[in-house]
Amino acid sequence: MAQFDSPSGSESPAALANGDENNKRNKAKAKGNGNGNGRTRLRDGDIKDLNTGGPNGTRAIGERRSSVSKPARDFRDKPEPEPKRKKRRTAVAPGAVREEAATPGDAGDSSTRSPSPVIDFDGLSRPSVGTRERLEEDDAQKENRLARMKGAVRTLLECIGEDPDREGLLATPERYAKAMLFFTKGYQENVRDIVNGAIFQERHNEMVIVKDIEVFSMCEHHLVPFNGKMHIGYIPANAVIGISKLPRIAEMFARRLQIQERLTKEVANAIMEVLKPQGVAVVMESSHLCMVMRGVQKTSSTTITSCVLGCFERKEKTRNEFLSLIGVNR
Ligand SMILES: [Zn+2]
Repeated sequence: MAQFDSPSGSESPAALANGDENNKRNKAKAKGNGNGNGRTRLRDGDIKDLNTGGPNGTRAIGERRSSVSKPARDFRDKPEPEPKRKKRRTAVAPGAVREEAATPGDAGDSSTRSPSPVIDFDGLSRPSVGTRERLEEDDAQKENRLARMKGAVRTLLECIGEDPDREGLLATPERYAKAMLFFTKGYQENVRDIVNGAIFQERHNEMVIVKDIEVFSMCEHHLVPFNGKMHIGYIPANAVIGISKLPRIAEMFARRLQIQERLTKEVANAIMEVLKPQGVAVVMESSHLCMVMRGVQKTSSTTITSCVLGCFERKEKTRNEFLSLIGVNR
């Protein structure tokens, strides 16, 4: 869609996701499912249990893909003979067809680029409003930031009815402020520094997968953690990336305020952008404390999100190979 044609478009996936959520909510309502519980769960970052998603894991993943990531991938959709994929294609705006469509089904057009440039000109990826200040502040400014954060945490303690001056809590504001800065350190990290030239020309064009990458992130709706595992796969186009860079890219995007859907998409897009492979697939399964400790309190449910780009999106066989290798397609 149009908003992904400009760099500023990369700022808006949350808005898009919200739009989709609204649609979904309306659909759910139309089916008579719009009870209070369902709505809360949707608002909490569109949480859906794999087991309720469909008869098997594949279906659930397919649903997530089309509901969350559709706008990001619309313009790369190719004419497909299968009728079940037709439904997705109808969602493409007429003006969204790009020149790549001139080579339908051609495996040679492997240089699909990521739909939204997630990496800025200076290597910072989707910096937040204060990233630059945080990155460039001097010691005095750092002190000031910490003091403000400590004050805020002290206020929190007071508001929940605690005594911030009792012994156990004396250093808590400072500890929490520092912890929070660590949880969000990804804002200051730089894709270019992380990759650091570790891209190697290599005639290896088979699937590469790093699975079970542990990921800790913070839900931007509740400021509580969600954690789980991420699986990243790609098919090189005559260039491979240092294998440890994939978890580091995941870590960078996870150490921000996130929703799982966007985290999954940003990791996939960044790899696409920096490596330009034939395709990238990212699947994340995680447990959200905001769902486990509050709200619907479903302690055992897992949320699965996926983002597939390039050949993973075009070829069902490639996608299925990836899913079965990471063990989600059972
Ligand atoms: Zn939450």
